[in-house]
Amino acid sequence: MANYGVALDLGTSGFRSHLVDLDQGGKILDTAVTVRHPLPGANIMDHLHFWMKNGSELGHKIFMDTVHNLISLYGEDKMKDIKKVAICGNPIQLSMFENIEVRDLAFAGKNKLKTLGVVAPDRSAHTSTAGKIGIPGLDVETEVIIPPAIRHEIGADALAMIMRSHMLEKDQTCMVTDYGTNAEMGLYHEGQLYSGSAAAGPAMEGQSIKYGVLASPGAISDVEIAEDGLWDNIVLDDRLNPVVMHKVDPITGRDVKVLDYKIKGITGTGTVSAVAMGLKSGAITLPHILNDEHRLKFAQGIYFTEEDVQEAGKAMGAIRAGHRTLMREVGISDEDVRVMYMAGASGTYVDPVKAQYCGMIPRVLDEVYQLGNTSLMMAHDLLKDSEMLDKMQSVANSISANHIMFAGNQIFEDMYVLELAYWTEGMPMESFNMMMEMQGYGVMPDIVPPKKVVRIVKSDIPDIGSGLHTMEQVGIMLEGRFDGCTGCKKCERGCPEKALTVLDGPTINVRSDLCLGTACQACELNCPEKVYQFAALKAKY
Ligand code: SF4
Ligand code: SF4
Repeated sequence: MANYGVALDLGTSGFRSHLVDLDQGGKILDTAVTVRHPLPGANIMDHLHFWMKNGSELGHKIFMDTVHNLISLYGEDKMKDIKKVAICGNPIQLSMFENIEVRDLAFAGKNKLKTLGVVAPDRSAHTSTAGKIGIPGLDVETEVIIPPAIRHEIGADALAMIMRSHMLEKDQTCMVTDYGTNAEMGLYHEGQLYSGSAAAGPAMEGQSIKYGVLASPGAISDVEIAEDGLWDNIVLDDRLNPVVMHKVDPITGRDVKVLDYKIKGITGTGTVSAVAMGLKSGAITLPHILNDEHRLKFAQGIYFTEEDVQEAGKAMGAIRAGHRTLMREVGISDEDVRVMYMAGASGTYVDPVKAQYCGMIPRVLDEVYQLGNTSLMMAHDLLKDSEMLDKMQSVANSISANHIMFAGNQIFEDMYVLELAYWTEGMPMESFNMMMEMQGYGVMPDIVPPKKVVRIVKSDIPDIGSGLHTMEQVGIMLEGRFDGCTGCKKCERGCPEKALTVLDGPTINVRSDLCLGTACQACELNCPEKVYQFAALKAKY
């Protein structure tokens, strides 16, 4: 009889997992990932709104069904031999997984929480079982290992970045960021950790961009200006290795094939590269792309629109404003952070020099370390090392941490307004700096590229075992029947994500993973009879 474990990273843009052999020291056998998050919404705030509006019971069912379907990709026959599941992620994802209180993470004010009678749950390291949590298909006694949060909003994912980077041992002023939909960031200075979380939006994960895709085979993950002036289109192959597949003129679209491979879109890191190379070459002069079609062209007819550039710019601006807000809150300048740790898929694949050009890492740096998916690595560590859970708790206890809520933070708001003017209206850098100085935040120094760049891992998931399973249809089908519905299908036609179908009855079906949730609600707004209620959608059985 085999003894398997499952390491599970519950990310804001999707779930990633390994099947490991517990009898072979945690050897990775197989890897499975979802291409999206199963809950409606493009970011964590949308997920929270859905959870609170449509009910935790429905939200938890979506979580559990997705976890079950993901693990099933390893083979139904292996389910009975799974003895342990270890998870990692931010406090909201982990709380949703366990179906415990999340409202303490949704509202900033203590008074509001008191009025609502919300009590923050204990988020210390602990174990549970698949039966208690409700993971279908696993033995009810399967152990589930849940790592600790450092403090309230600073979760196990931040702890994973800190432990995997070994930054505490070096004791330098440094910054660490996980470049996801929610850019979780930390500034470590004189023994204190200051953290924040900038809602960068899905552009950093290759979403909300016309041809944006998650890092997966066939995705452009980087572009480079070659000597002949063409742009090398660097694409992830079947094992997620980046390979030059095409050379393209980004203005005319002239496309020279290097390797025969189907290309399906561009990732978040490809987006950063394209914006950096576009700005550097002059192909992009914010907010415009300088050809008649206003398109930046890549291989096989894939292109960027000006809206894509602005969408990416908003994410980059949010990250830069977040980093600089932490520095100002701590009382240090842009030049004081000399070491940067980059985590997550985008943080691993992106070229740090291009990221620096777009403002995603500080402008004056000595060293950059690219860490990979530290959350999945930490979940794997929890399976391999029976003492790791206690070690994580003791590191969490040792960190003196302060969380800066960017929502409502005046410095962040001031800086982000200027970032929006720069990225979406083409405010010149001189004016941007002048305004920064007038507001007392100081001008940004000239860029000094890092002297040392160390990519600690080859890819964000460095060991995938025998292969990678990709789950395309994530989440569940939601269903609604509304009195007075005429079946006119206006809601279906107006759905920007093609997530909604009107069936006979009339019955409304919505795919939870495709739906944009609170940020959209076009279905509700488009209903001429005013009968559609998003909050009344239930699970379809
Ligand atoms: S229109 Fe409705 S179903 Fe479609 S994405 Fe928007 S909220 Fe979701
Ligand atoms: S728009 Fe309203 S009335 Fe028309 S099918 Fe949708 S829910 Fe029914």
